[in-house]
Amino acid sequence: MSDLPPSTPLQPPKKVFVKTYGCQMNVYDSGRMVDTLAPKGWESVETPEGADLVILNTCHIREKAAEKVFTELGRLREHQANRAAQGGRMMIAVAGCVAQAEGAELARRAGNVDIVVGPQAYHRLPDLLARVEAMPGRKAARLVDTDFPVESKFDALPEEASARGASAFLAIQEGCDKFCTFCVVPYTRGAEFSRPAADVLAEARRLVAGGSIELTLLGQNVNAWHGDGPDGRAWSFGRLLRAVAEIPGLDRLRYTTSHPLEVDDELIAAHRDVGVLMPFLHLPVQSGSDRILAAMNRRHTAEHYRRVVGRLREARPDLALSSDFIVGFPGESEEDFEATLALVREVGFPQAFSFKYSPRPGTPAAEVKEGVVPEVVKADRLARLQALLGRQMAEFNASMVGRRMPVLLDRPGKRPGQRLGRSPYMQPVHLDAPESLDGRIVDVIIEGAGPIALAGRLADGERTAA
Ligand code: SF4
Repeated sequence: MSDLPPSTPLQPPKKVFVKTYGCQMNVYDSGRMVDTLAPKGWESVETPEGADLVILNTCHIREKAAEKVFTELGRLREHQANRAAQGGRMMIAVAGCVAQAEGAELARRAGNVDIVVGPQAYHRLPDLLARVEAMPGRKAARLVDTDFPVESKFDALPEEASARGASAFLAIQEGCDKFCTFCVVPYTRGAEFSRPAADVLAEARRLVAGGSIELTLLGQNVNAWHGDGPDGRAWSFGRLLRAVAEIPGLDRLRYTTSHPLEVDDELIAAHRDVGVLMPFLHLPVQSGSDRILAAMNRRHTAEHYRRVVGRLREARPDLALSSDFIVGFPGESEEDFEATLALVREVGFPQAFSFKYSPRPGTPAAEVKEGVVPEVVKADRLARLQALLGRQMAEFNASMVGRRMPVLLDRPGKRPGQRLGRSPYMQPVHLDAPESLDGRIVDVIIEGAGPIALAGRLADGERTAA
């Protein structure tokens, strides 16, 4: 625990600005970092101007991740100088996966960073800040904490300091033991860890009591979650989903990111039985070629993936899937790539994330020097894959026109009087609606579909409900 005194009414709140990169887990972590600081007198602000602390919560998935962090640190120098001119001090902390993977390099090269803190150590932020504040010179104040502590950060985190809005993330699992050869996650997030069911349920109840009606359970391998249930029995992820779904007031439940090898009978049955579980699942496959899947150490075949999808669709016929694809992995031939296109057509993904392969330092695939696919070939394959995915997305969106759909409204649209919400399939839906409906699920008649988003109008009866 921190030895910092709590804030008193005499002390104005200190301001922290958090910039988040990457995945939903980072969004969740950023919220939890603010939670750890709130009891120590910190309040979250929307811009870096005038902030006493800026946290860059970084992501290592994209290429040149560290370089992007250095660029951002360069931009922050001006804010730091302005703050110093006002007689204050802007501290900078770099958190997240770049901090974990390249902490020593960051500390060495970036002169304006005070703290480097890894994803498993951010519950120690208040103590790290107290130590930095107590040190005189900036150079002496550079602290790096990228340990994988024996204590779980989840045990050390306080309750959420504020409501999370209508749609909230909840981390239930972290880390990965799968060691896909292209991926840094097992090194940056560590071994698989499942939070106890009782803790997950308690946090889920608090979030729903705070007004969240949609929860997304998060983990790098979320469906690898397992643990002891409050009934004293061993629970699988499917059992946990059923328990979360029973929380009164919860209307929508989602989870991400899942692994095809961890889709078991209980999870498939949950998709059949749990009404609040949304009919949309992100299930990464990466490639449709068994040769490439083996080189990636995915530990499943394309046929296994097809079987899993078939069983999920039997359980939930309206299920739509999204996925992740890497094109141009070392050794990928045109035939391998065609196998990926065939899988994409067969499953009919209406959404997916697709990237050109690029080596991540420290991963086994980064050492592979043979079979490197030329950039021009990667670019061509990516363009062909994305064209196919784009067509499938447009067709899927067009199939929604004329349907009545429940839409969770949660933000302003582009023009006055317009709101933006999400369909059960995560499609953005634009419609005219009063702001008072924000945070509610309303029935919408879909009247138009674009390549990415839908447009509609409130169904009869919804306006009076406002
Ligand atoms: S399963 Fe996912 S998180 Fe784990 S190593 Fe593979 S890609 Fe990375």
